[in-house]
Amino acid sequence: MPPVSPPPEKMMFRLSLRRRGISDLRVLRAMDAIPREVFVEAADRAEAWRDTALPIACGQTISQPFVVAYMTEQLRLEATHRVLEIGTGSGYQAAVLAHLCKTVLTVERFRTLADTARARLEKLGLHNVEVMLGDGFDLPANLGAFDRIMVTAAMAEVPAALTDRLEVDGILIAPVGPHNGVQTLVQIRKTADGLERKPLVDVRFVPALPGIAREL
Ligand code: SAH
Repeated sequence: MPPVSPPPEKMMFRLSLRRRGISDLRVLRAMDAIPREVFVEAADRAEAWRDTALPIACGQTISQPFVVAYMTEQLRLEATHRVLEIGTGSGYQAAVLAHLCKTVLTVERFRTLADTARARLEKLGLHNVEVMLGDGFDLPANLGAFDRIMVTAAMAEVPAALTDRLEVDGILIAPVGPHNGVQTLVQIRKTADGLERKPLVDVRFVPALPGIAREL
């Protein structure tokens, strides 16, 4: 029997990620395994495997697949890691992370987005992700420390309240910069001596806003 090949749009998806420099096979496999069409609006299903950001509910966006792949690769995940994501949005990035680490806690300030993402992740059988309605700038004290933190909304600066939650040897990735404009993706490593900061690439994310959203 000839091998079953994936549908052409998925082949193109994988090719475009590789062409743009994503080389971590585990990341590519995770992106292959997560059905992105489940995380976009019904009207955008046909676009789901294109390498573009798309609008989702509450005026937010699901990130471009290349950016998801790149950020995931730069996080250098291990199977034992406990990961925090700020900005659940559609839940897609959380699903990719969940494939590559032990547990994911993802926080979202819109109830509608948190509830929808939770239902999607459950339906996909990703039981190692917890979706929490909350504010990434004001997290409960009892969450403990994380091996990796990924912020997927633009922050003017990474607050110490977040880097304080990194384990030693931990890595945080966040888009840092103005709300309306280009931000720089920044990688912060916590070492025994302090924080090491490395700018990566320019990106454009929706802003991180304080407080739980009053709208649904
Ligand atoms: N990672 C998402 C895309 C993120 S869009 C995905 O894979 O689809 C950024 C998200 O961050 C939006 O849903 C926005 O509501 C949320 N957000 C913004 N500020 C926040 C905050 N302070 N705490 C938690 N979530 C926040």
